Amino acid sequence: MPAEDDRQDDHRARQSVVEAARSLSGLGLNQGTSGNVSLRWKDGLLITPSGMPYERMRAEDIVFMGLDGRFEHRLKPSSEWRFHRDILANRSEVGAVVHAHPVYCTAFAMCGREIPAVHYMIAAAGGPTVRCAPYAPYGTPELSSLALAALEDRACCLLANHGMISTGESLEKALWLAGELETLCRQYAVALQVGAPVVLPDDEIARIVERFKNYGLNAKPGPDNAS
Ligand code: 13P
Ligand code: ZN
Repeated sequence: MPAEDDRQDDHRARQSVVEAARSLSGLGLNQGTSGNVSLRWKDGLLITPSGMPYERMRAEDIVFMGLDGRFEHRLKPSSEWRFHRDILANRSEVGAVVHAHPVYCTAFAMCGREIPAVHYMIAAAGGPTVRCAPYAPYGTPELSSLALAALEDRACCLLANHGMISTGESLEKALWLAGELETLCRQYAVALQVGAPVVLPDDEIARIVERFKNYGLNAKPGPDNAS
């Protein structure tokens, strides 16, 4: 690829990370400097810098990091670079990772509670539960391995006393799932006040997971896609 095209591609990818990070605040999923975003890029990842308010973030502030954790940048990568790097290194289907502290996700995470299949939309997570990884301090290798375990066969998880992680093959999908997970947690919190939420059986969620392979952002145009 000619050098100029390469430079423009690089800039566009960095800008998409900035926009994704900003949209987290716009969607009410984050505030201040909490949360971080990464995108698989070339033989590594692009990741938001540590401790920078999203409204000040520019494309050139996004840090490129190799999968070996090395980087050369005047800014430090997010303190959570380990779980971003480890997810991207271990899950080839994942192209982007979003971490945030949305209120309802974090409320369940503060109680160390996993989310059961109280709504069929849990299938967006890839299975009948959204697990809550046990607590470990932010930015540690221990938090990363607990998060990876909680994400097994799932696209998102909660982090005890901290927040949530969502993943997707694109930034758009990882952001969409972050919003869906926060909505599910909000609905569950209200349902717990209304009464005793009914949990759907695992085989029903397995069927919905299959249907979701051709729904919404996954839909392929054509006459067979009415469901
Ligand atoms: P960074 O600003 O280092 O990305 O950290 C924010 C955060 O949410 C830590 O868990
Ligand atoms: Zn955090």
